[in-house]
This record gives sequence, structure tokens and C-alpha cells, in this order.
Amino acid sequence: MKRVISFFLIPIFFLLAGCGASQAQEQFFTMDTVMSITVYGKGAEQAASAARQEVESLNDLLSRTDPDSLISQLNAHAGDGTAVEMDQDTLELLSFAKSVSQLLPGCFDITIAPVMDAWGFTGEDRHVPDDDTLAAAMALVDSDKLLVDEDAGTARLEEAGMAVDLGAIAKGYAASRAEAVLREAGVSSALLDLGRNITVIGPKTDGTAWRVGVADPDDDSQYLCVLSLEDVTLSTSGGYERWFEENGVRYHHIIDPKTGYPADSGLKSVTVVSQNHLLADALSTTLFVAGEEDALDFWRSRDDFELVLCTNDGRVIITEGLENGSEFTGEELGYVCEIARR
Ligand code: ADP
Ligand code: MG
Repeated sequence: MKRVISFFLIPIFFLLAGCGASQAQEQFFTMDTVMSITVYGKGAEQAASAARQEVESLNDLLSRTDPDSLISQLNAHAGDGTAVEMDQDTLELLSFAKSVSQLLPGCFDITIAPVMDAWGFTGEDRHVPDDDTLAAAMALVDSDKLLVDEDAGTARLEEAGMAVDLGAIAKGYAASRAEAVLREAGVSSALLDLGRNITVIGPKTDGTAWRVGVADPDDDSQYLCVLSLEDVTLSTSGGYERWFEENGVRYHHIIDPKTGYPADSGLKSVTVVSQNHLLADALSTTLFVAGEEDALDFWRSRDDFELVLCTNDGRVIITEGLENGSEFTGEELGYVCEIARR
């Protein structure tokens, strides 16, 4: 991994000569993943660099493993009664995360951190926790006990041992902030790959839509389908991203807050496509826990996102808003395609 990190830490800039269009790319490692930002057009180099800085500064605010981050300060004061001063954006992010917990109860909770720790997902020592350790960690998961006071500009965790983990939404939030930086710089065509969160800005410079593949959870060099997209984020959550094996059983990093165990809802992956980058990231995690039926019911109740679900039994379910412009490529991988209708 170190080799990968040092390689990607080197920013790469280059210009496309001849046609007058310039392109700049930044590749870097933050939020525990490799990211790249590619910007087209005049001022691309400066814009890409500014967007990268924005993402990196958000990591400094939101990381749970950096002891100096705002989130670490919030966690350090859990249960001691201190209302920790936060910046307004972070408070809004915490409020948003609490609201997602209400959308589909029992599926999403950013106070899942003690359970992530019990499984060792925060460090290198990943293992199945014993029942007592898991029960103790589960008793601390309750985002109702994360008190956010936007007027006072503070947040507080009510119980000692509670902690917040923004892993499920930090990259989507970073995407929305990076997009704002790029738009402010006048960028109208860009591609951001923030680690399974792909954001496309505008169409490509030739005026056609971006073509973005949804990875096969069993082999991410292959695609289940390819989507034609403009001005959206495509966020994927799956059990294949981070996992370990113990006694021949695989355990992955998306936890069902109802059981404390890796979610086992019958889905291999969930991809959310939305103009709201933060919502896309939050919902990919939430709906992966929720499962096919609840995910599709929830989709039918809203009009601000579309889905590609990959089920354990080999189906790729594409919601009808993506039907035009989607190309199913999973047939030779053994998948069948279904279109979900409202
Ligand atoms: P990734 O960040 O790996 O691309 P996700 O966006 O689905 O995938 O986020 C997974 C991360 O979210 C986990 O590593 C953990 O930090 C956190 N998490 C795990 N389960 C939940 C949950 N049920 N609700 C909220 N956050 C969770
Ligand atoms: Mg997510």
C-alpha cells in the first residue's frame, strides 16, 4: 500500500496541446483511498489543485483517526458534558447524517464507530468480536444521543464511549465541496473519482455525456453496466470493498446497526446516482443495509436519485430513470438485467 500511496502523492499535470483545450489531473491519497480529479478547460491546473486542497482540508476536519480533527475532538469529549465548538458546515453534515438515520430506521447511524472498533476495522487487527465486546459497543450506537446545536455552533455526544464515524458520507460531502470549488473557478467539465464516488461535472468537452461503469462486485475490472451521465455523483457501496476472512467466513465493513454484524441483506452492491452528492453517498450505505425490497420502496417514494442494485442471486436491477442511456454489460459475467418501475 505504501508504494501506491507514494506514487499517487505526486500530482500529475499535463496539457493537451494543439486543440486549445487544457486538461489537468491531480491524483492523491486521502480519506483512506486513492482519489483523482481531472479538470478540462481554461485554468484547469489551478482549479484541480484548489479542489484537491478542499478535499484534503475536509479530511483534516472529519477524520476520526487524526487526533486533531474536529470529529476527534467531539469524540474525545463524549460523555463529559462538554459541548464542542464546530464549524457551521460540519454541524450541518452531522444534522444531515442524523436525518438519514430517520429515513430508513435501523440502517444508517454515524455513531456506529464503537462497533467498527470492536471489529478492528479502524486499524489493522480485524477480527470477529466476542459477544460481550460487541454488546457493549452496540449499547453506544444511538445518533439520538448526538446532540447538534446549530444556533450555538456546538455538538455533543451524551454517553462516554460514544463516537462518530463519518466514513459513510465524508467522500460524498467532499465531492459536493470540490464541485463548488470547481464551479466557482468557472469549470464546466470535470471528472472526480473520490474512491467509489464518481462525480461528473457537465458533459465532456466534446458535448457528449460521460460514460461511467458500475463495477462488478466480484471483479472490479469488469462492469455490470455503463451509464451516460452529466452533473451527478454515482456512489457505490458493497461488501467487497473492505473485508477480512475468519474461519472461512467473509466479514465486510458495512455494519447493520440492528445486529452489529456486517449487513447481509441479499445485496452485493448498491449504486446511487443523484445530483445531490452527499445524498448519493449516504444512501448507498443505507440502502445496502436495507436490502432490495426496502431500497426499491424507498426509491419509489422519492424523485431525487436512481439506483443500480446487484443482488446475491445474480440480478442487476436498474431503476427506470437510468434506463435510457444505460448499457447492460453484465450478461457475459452471468448476470441478468431487470428494470425497476415506479
Ligand atoms: P466506502 O466508504 O467504503 O466507499 P460506504 O460509503 O458505504 O463505503 O461507507 C462505509 C463506511 O461507513 C464504513 O467504513 C464505516 O466507517 C461506516 N459505516 C459502516 N456501517 C455503517 C452504517 N450502518 N451507518 C453509517 N455508517 C456506517
Ligand atoms: Mg456511503
